Amino acid sequence: MSKQLKRFLILLWSISIICLIALRCYRNLFKAFKSVRGIFIFRKKMNRFNKLPKYYHANNRYYMTMNIPGFPSKAFTQFIRDELNQIISFDPNNHHLQMAVFSVTNRCPLRCLHCYEWERLNGTEYLSLEQLIQIQQNLETYGLRQIQYTGGEPMMRINDLNKLISLTLPTTDTWIFSSGFNFTPENTLSLKKAGLTGVILSLDHWNEQDHNQFRQSDQAFKWATSAAENIVNADLALSLSLCPSREFLTHENLDHYLRFAQQLKAGFIQIVEPRAVGRFKNQDIELKAEHIRIIEDFTLDVNNNRKYRDYPTILFPGYHQREFGCFGAGRRFLYIDSKGDLNACPFCQESFGNVLENNLHSQIGRLKSRGCPKFGKVNSL
Ligand code: SF4
Repeated sequence: MSKQLKRFLILLWSISIICLIALRCYRNLFKAFKSVRGIFIFRKKMNRFNKLPKYYHANNRYYMTMNIPGFPSKAFTQFIRDELNQIISFDPNNHHLQMAVFSVTNRCPLRCLHCYEWERLNGTEYLSLEQLIQIQQNLETYGLRQIQYTGGEPMMRINDLNKLISLTLPTTDTWIFSSGFNFTPENTLSLKKAGLTGVILSLDHWNEQDHNQFRQSDQAFKWATSAAENIVNADLALSLSLCPSREFLTHENLDHYLRFAQQLKAGFIQIVEPRAVGRFKNQDIELKAEHIRIIEDFTLDVNNNRKYRDYPTILFPGYHQREFGCFGAGRRFLYIDSKGDLNACPFCQESFGNVLENNLHSQIGRLKSRGCPKFGKVNSL
């Protein structure tokens, strides 16, 4: 079967699944049609960057993007139900929260130049395993399709991660956001056995020396690249996360990075802009308009040009934040820090209370009405 035909059949399959879910939700052809149409209109607005459908395959699932669960899966079905519910409501108790970035430790063996956890790094470990479980259960009760475990370096608590992942509901996907530390073949397989969906590896340069310099460690590149190999061998989903400095942002560097990511067999590259928080606080490091333009051009080209069909999909949240406002701050995602405090995202750190207080509904309500301090609330969608 040609690759083109295969892509078309996967597209058809995904549309059929979505239509079937809508019919089951509404039991009314008109409402189902209207709602599915609403999803496609919303995605079209959002996907200026992704006109060519690309599908990444891992562990018997197909992924359109990293932030939507792969299909077929219970998490994908529930995600589509949540999306439909936003268009024509059939479940008034649905809170439409899709993702939590959950810091499980402030410990880390690295000293990255851009570390947002810098002020807490390697201080007191605040949360016990029991407390982590309680937070996770609170979040899942509120409704959630994806948890991204972060830190510090989350793999410092590999045993606790195994436990946490094994306790998630079948409708929740789990990803680990890591530097690659401690992803031995044995640890990677035990995480997969516990139910892990995928790993987001922080890799800030295609060049070993430059990445190590940014991470202040001569091991960092080796950890990341051997972790990538072990993750792919375990058939887990793999994404890379790039935090590009102004100096890095040339077409040549981005192109080199893309080819390196393809060699590592990553499905996605997420580009996260440096922000003046944590170790970068009070430093003039944020990107200027000309740097943003370079990222946008690169993203458009890779996601829409047929010559890049077999390359990773690029995710650039900065575009959507500038164009539509921020989907964080409890709207679709939020951040729980290593003390258990609720924040808008890892970069906008302002506590809206501790999740262990069992007051999540009103805490998220306050966070939502405040919105993202940098990009504002979502508008015009
Ligand atoms: S950015 Fe992440 S990996 Fe780097 S020092 Fe901070 S917590 Fe560790």
